[in-house]
Amino acid sequence: MTTLHGGAATDVGRVRQVNEDRFLVRDDLCLYAVADGVGGHQAGEVASQTSMETLEASFVEPTTEGLVQAIMAANDAVWHLAQSASEKRGMGTTLTAVALVQEDGEEHLAVANVGDSRVYLFSRDELSQLTEDHSLVEELVREGQITKAEAHMHPQRSIITRALGMEPEIEVDHLQLLPYKGDRLLLCSDGLTNEVTDERIESTLRRFSDPADAAQELVRQARAHGGNDNITVVVVDVVDDDQRSERASAALAAEPPTSAASASPGSRALEPDPPVARAATATATAPRPVATSHRPPRRRRVTWRVLVFCVCLGLVGAVAVGAVGWYARNTYYVGLAGNQVAIYRGRPGGLLWFQPTLQERKPLTVDEVLAARLPDLRAGHSEATKADADRYVNELRQEASGLTGANTTPPPANTPSPGTTVKP
Ligand code: MN
Repeated sequence: MTTLHGGAATDVGRVRQVNEDRFLVRDDLCLYAVADGVGGHQAGEVASQTSMETLEASFVEPTTEGLVQAIMAANDAVWHLAQSASEKRGMGTTLTAVALVQEDGEEHLAVANVGDSRVYLFSRDELSQLTEDHSLVEELVREGQITKAEAHMHPQRSIITRALGMEPEIEVDHLQLLPYKGDRLLLCSDGLTNEVTDERIESTLRRFSDPADAAQELVRQARAHGGNDNITVVVVDVVDDDQRSERASAALAAEPPTSAASASPGSRALEPDPPVARAATATATAPRPVATSHRPPRRRRVTWRVLVFCVCLGLVGAVAVGAVGWYARNTYYVGLAGNQVAIYRGRPGGLLWFQPTLQERKPLTVDEVLAARLPDLRAGHSEATKADADRYVNELRQEASGLTGANTTPPPANTPSPGTTVKP
C-alpha cells in the first residue's frame, strides 16, 4: 500500500490585502490540491474555497478519470456561483491536484491541472515540472515567440488562458506516474514560482526533510523575495511505495545489462532506473487554443477587459496612422526644386515618417514667378489633387507671361474692388 504524507503553508504575501489561495491536504484520501482564486470583492476567495470543497466532496472514485470528474464538478460549482450574483460574475480559480489512484490494478499518482499553478516532481535529487501552465506567456514560449527568461519578466505573465468557473465546460490536463518511495511532489501557486527560482526550490526541497518545514521555508523565501502575490505551497512525500522501488530494482538487476545500465555500473543498484521503471504516462490533452478573454477582473493581474481595451486602442491607433499616411501621401503641393517650380506629392515638410516626393518639375523658374507668390511657393502651396496643383502652376505661368515686367503687381483679385456698387 502506497502511503503519502503532505505538509502545507500559505501566506497573503506583502502586497495583497486578502489571501485568495486555498489548499487541500488529505493524507487519508491521498488527495492534495492548490487553488489560486481571481475576481474582485472577495469573489476570488469564494471561487478557490468552493473549488477545494467541491473537489474534496466529489473525489469518490480513486481513478485519474475520477479526479478529472471531481475537478469538472468543482468547475460546475464555481460557474453556477459566478452566475448567481453580479459581484461574483467573472470570478474563477486555478486548480492543480495530485491524488493516489488505481489504474489497471496498479497504484499511480494522478496529476491534474487547470491554470498556472504548478506541480513539480522532486525525484532522485532532481526537480522537474509536471504541469504545463495555461498562461499567455507559456503559449508565447511554446510558439517560440519569447524565451523562458523573457517569460519570467513579461508584463503579461499573470494572464492565464484557462481557469475554473469561467465557462460551463472545462478541459482538464492530466497525467499519471508511478509513485516511488522518496519521491516528493510540490504543488504551488504562481506566488512561489514568480519569486523563487527552480534552483532555489530544488535546493530547499533537498535540505528540509519534513514536508511542512519545506513548504514553510519556500513560502518564507517567496515573501523575502518580494511577496507580490499570495503564496501557497503543498509538499507531498511518498513515504511508502509497497516495495515498488525494490521490485523495480530487482527486475532491473535480472535483466541483461544494456548500454544505459552499463553507463552507470552499480551506482544506483538499489534504485529503479527511471527510463525503464518510471513510465510516466503523460495523457495530458493537447492544449486547445483558448482565447485570453477567460480571465476575470483582478487588481494586479492584467484582466481580459484591459486586453480587449489594448487591442481596441491598437486598432484605433492603426486606423489613425493609416488615415494620416493616406492623407500624407495623397495630397500635393507646389513648391520649389532648386530654381524651378515643381509639384510634390505629400505634405510640405513631411508628416510623421511620410516624406514628400517630387512628382514633376515644371518649365517655370523662380525668376519668372511673381515676387508676391514666392513666399507661398517656398512654404509649399497645398492642393488636394494633382490636377489642382497643375492648375495652380498654370495660373503662375499665365501671371508670369501676362504681367512680364510688372512683378510687383499683386495678382488680380476675384472680389469686387472697393467702391464698386451693384446696381439694382
Ligand atoms: Mn497567484
